[in-house]
Amino acid sequence: MMKSEDKQISLTMATSGKDTGIVGYNVQIAVDTQHHLIVANEVTGVGNDRQQLANMAGQARDEMAVETLEVVADRGYYDGEEIRACEEADITVTLPKPLTSVAKAAGRFGKQDFVYVAAADVYRCPAGERLTYHYTNVEGGKTLLRYWTSTCKTCALKAQCTTGPERRISRWEHEAVLGKVQHRLDHNPIAMGVRRQQPFGTMKCWMGATHFLTTKLPKVATEMALNVLAYNMKRVMTIVGVGGLLEAMRA
Ligand code: SF4
Repeated sequence: MMKSEDKQISLTMATSGKDTGIVGYNVQIAVDTQHHLIVANEVTGVGNDRQQLANMAGQARDEMAVETLEVVADRGYYDGEEIRACEEADITVTLPKPLTSVAKAAGRFGKQDFVYVAAADVYRCPAGERLTYHYTNVEGGKTLLRYWTSTCKTCALKAQCTTGPERRISRWEHEAVLGKVQHRLDHNPIAMGVRRQQPFGTMKCWMGATHFLTTKLPKVATEMALNVLAYNMKRVMTIVGVGGLLEAMRA
């Protein structure tokens, strides 16, 4: 604790941002797009959303008692294995890829500028060359296939492409799943607008835009669940009226 900059430490809460010194819990919700009711909620001590997609989508599907589900999430949830787990559970996800390309940030072509041609198992680069498969290796637990072309050294676009001898493109063994996600996103431009219609703003306003009243994870989870219950009851009263709600509760 004394080694930390602000002389405080939490073993259960997550640090929300690098070097910010801010600790807190991570509230997850899944909202139905038709009525904006919260169908699943969870409070975690993990500081990011990357491992939450399959978990929250699965909870939402169970709560709604449906066989298949279409989920829209923001880019913070983007994780190949999580997306694959959803795909295998018949949950169709649409979300944008994080903009983390080092090459793109440095003003060079990003991977998105290379088109994968499945029929030939090659990538077509911005100069129109074919990057063919060379070898496979495992990195960070992921099996990656490597592609490149030997024509890079004479390419007029090389300065915009790579600082190395040739530009190499890596392809995850399950990358086809990610291709489907991008295809859905490209063909459903309003999807992310739907994602932004979430009730966090309304709930924060009701809670007084302050922190939770409790501190330990189980209590915070209960506090959040009560807030969700209150939000959902108000939504239902707006949709079907108090009479409709009482009728449904009696049924
Ligand atoms: S440097 Fe290589 S990969 Fe990049 S555009 Fe030129 S030929 Fe294509």
